[in-house]
Amino acid sequence: MGNHVSSLDGKRVPGMGSDAEWGAATQAAMSRELVWIEQERFRGFGCSECGWRFKPSRTATGASFDEMMRNFEVQRDKEFTSHVCVDHSKGVR
Ligand SMILES: [Zn+2]
Repeated sequence: MGNHVSSLDGKRVPGMGSDAEWGAATQAAMSRELVWIEQERFRGFGCSECGWRFKPSRTATGASFDEMMRNFEVQRDKEFTSHVCVDHSKGVR
């Protein structure tokens, strides 16, 4: 138990290279961040700049806990990156 944890960190490092490529363009336009939100009716990830919330469409699956977490993070990051803040304005409910 515990030996598999370090391998997850090792796999994250190469990904940061490609992250910086599109990051330069998007960060100039907006400074939104993926943030952890705890409210009475919602607990999970959301956007710091609008009312967008990450709602997993289906239970994360994977052959192992690491793979399940990775699939969850990929889905979360993909939906966060593709959402449009204007469409989730905090003033609209
Ligand atoms: Zn947003």
